[in-house]
Amino acid sequence: MILLAGLKKINLTGWIFIGIALGGLTGWLIGEPALIVAEPLGTMFIRLLRMIIVPLIAASLISGISGIGAGEGLGRLGGKTFLYYMSTSLMAIVVGMVIMNMVAPGFGVHLNLGEAPDTFTASKSVWGAVYELIQSMVPTNLLKAVADGDILPLIFFCILFGIFITRLPEKPRVLLTDIFSAFFQVMMKITHLVISVAPLGIFGLITKVVAETGFDAFGPLLLYFFCILGGLVFHAFITLPLIMKFIGRVSPLKHVRAMGPALLTAFSTASSGATLPLTMERVENSAGVSNKITSFVLPMGATINMDGTALYEAAAVLFIAQTYGIHLGIVQQIIVVITALAASVATAAIPKASLATIPMIMAAIGVPFEGIAIIQVFDRILDMCRTTVNVFSDSCGAVVIARTEGERPLAG
Ligand code: ASP
Repeated sequence: MILLAGLKKINLTGWIFIGIALGGLTGWLIGEPALIVAEPLGTMFIRLLRMIIVPLIAASLISGISGIGAGEGLGRLGGKTFLYYMSTSLMAIVVGMVIMNMVAPGFGVHLNLGEAPDTFTASKSVWGAVYELIQSMVPTNLLKAVADGDILPLIFFCILFGIFITRLPEKPRVLLTDIFSAFFQVMMKITHLVISVAPLGIFGLITKVVAETGFDAFGPLLLYFFCILGGLVFHAFITLPLIMKFIGRVSPLKHVRAMGPALLTAFSTASSGATLPLTMERVENSAGVSNKITSFVLPMGATINMDGTALYEAAAVLFIAQTYGIHLGIVQQIIVVITALAASVATAAIPKASLATIPMIMAAIGVPFEGIAIIQVFDRILDMCRTTVNVFSDSCGAVVIARTEGERPLAG
């Protein structure tokens, strides 16, 4: 009886923590046999999240934008959002690079480099990738782009759709605004349902990661691992909270509490894209940011604002260069900063996506592609950590921008 009453008191974040802990234990103690149960749980959770992303973004953006209208409001919001995205990513990169230069964990590491997969050697230039990204915003076939999981074309189309709703005569304008707002409410209810099964899904995902990870190759790279982790921790616990405190004028702790389930989901899925429904639900319902700002800032943020990824990519390239004994001069380091910023924008919001964009930075400064093999050992765990930072930064961005727009997030 007492146990039951105690269990009832545990909130969603608590249940997710339990899912993570039990998943870690199960993966460690039982290992691969546990995957018979764990794998379907994790897979179903990811499938549910991915199922709701497209309709949720469409409903949220169209109802949000039709509320802001075109013109000054939208332009101002766009400008602030872009400024926030770029400046926080830049700060993250600088932190990562300072640590890598100070600790220099790569000099003296001699590893047997495996062959780099073909896709890496054939990688395009960073500017080519950014150009392609911008071009892909305007799809020749919207449905195909969406079916392929491309979110940017969907965002672009929905913004246009929302803007032009506001230009209609009153009757169809009110009708469409009401329809999309109702559509959005339905999507939020479905999102709540998916969130309620998050602890089970997360249990499955963590069991799989732990069961499938070997620990042999970790030794010589531990210092590298802790440097990246230290950088991510600095960004999440110092840089972003300072921005929240002084620009957003909200308590960072309160915000972390409000975002708990989304952050833990980001950690478990290693995908900002898959976490997006939870990020949106939390920012709106727990942090109290309006739908018009949430719907504008978050879908775009999940796709292009990746502070953790930016830090990781720049620091990893510096580390790889160090293992080759390459000393990078100031000009080359500046090139790393700029290309890492662009590469983080071009990185997809899915697990392991950084591994596809890091070679672009390596190419810009002439570091051998084979070096990417070294960082694979720790990529999964660092992916979980950097994705959490990516999602946290998106959510802080929504709060800070809401505050500068006169809203009072996390009030009371
Ligand atoms: N997994 C990251 C994300 O979804 C991207 C990356 O690989 O850095 O945010």
